[in-house]
Amino acid sequence: MNRISDKEAVQMFHSPGLLPAGLMADRLRQELHPDNTATFIIDRNINYTNICTAHCKFCAFHNDKGYLLSKDALAEKIRETVELGGTQILLQGGLHPGLPLEFYEDMMGFIRENFKIHVHAFSPPEICNISNISGLGIKEVIKRLKDSGLDSIPGGGAEILVDSVRAGVSPNKCTVSEWLEVMRTAHKAGLRTTATMMFGFTETVEDRVEHLEKIRLLQDETGGFTSFIPWTFQPGNTRMSYLRTAGGVDYLKTLAIARVFLDNIPNIQASWVTQGNKVAQAALRFGANDIGSTMIEENVVSATGVSFEVTKEELIGLIANAGFTPARRDSSVDFAPRQVF
Ligand code: SF4
Repeated sequence: MNRISDKEAVQMFHSPGLLPAGLMADRLRQELHPDNTATFIIDRNINYTNICTAHCKFCAFHNDKGYLLSKDALAEKIRETVELGGTQILLQGGLHPGLPLEFYEDMMGFIRENFKIHVHAFSPPEICNISNISGLGIKEVIKRLKDSGLDSIPGGGAEILVDSVRAGVSPNKCTVSEWLEVMRTAHKAGLRTTATMMFGFTETVEDRVEHLEKIRLLQDETGGFTSFIPWTFQPGNTRMSYLRTAGGVDYLKTLAIARVFLDNIPNIQASWVTQGNKVAQAALRFGANDIGSTMIEENVVSATGVSFEVTKEELIGLIANAGFTPARRDSSVDFAPRQVF
């Protein structure tokens, strides 16, 4: 399939109907993953702090008088995760104003000393925050985090990679060029990362395509993104609670267009956390080949009042019922199916 241009992607968004985009995406998914597997992982989202200086309008999670997890609490959460068969933790927090790089190095070292688990941690806004507080460059921060135990970086904090959109909803967070620079630096340092897009708030479809274009260009340059994870803004308990959430049709169409546009990113992940099980299952026919994780714990989306839960057995059933072979992947590094069910 030939690469589509940004103009063609915008036309796909404006064209009526859902199925043409879905069929193209499903065909490309089959070409990229001919073994017909759809993968998942068992992991836990651990948020080490909800204290955050950014005050993004779309966030229901931050709290100026919030918490900072103790090492004991962190260890307990990781221990539980390992006992439940988890192979990864997604470790993220708010932009805490008072923690230097040494705090994060110490946390990584503590995890490495006590557990054998993949640490997927610190999205670009957190890396920029650590860099600002410590007075060190992005390259130095990433190198030191990697040396102390960081395995890969989540693509959070991207929302929409268009500065005019970010200025309206998250003016205190990193800019587009900073987000991309963190990812470029991480990829060059040998760390793999994911990329995300939160959509369905004030952005236009042209903004969504501009976001996809920036991800695709960086992937052409570095090849470091393992997967792309689009998910919808959840307005509950946020300062934008007057907005309606994007529906399943918008979600599936956006997912499908992302699959087609991002022809250089191997994996597209469905979001049952924001869409529920049934739409996530349908997403496997709209370009997704991975259904995310069981998320033993999740705090950010649930703070908006949206709460879905899913067990490993349910994920396996969802995948099998959609006509795919369920396979658990070992870590976020390469998404290769390891244990087939
Ligand atoms: S989305 Fe992240 S950076 Fe923004 S306020 Fe919430 S915790 Fe802070």
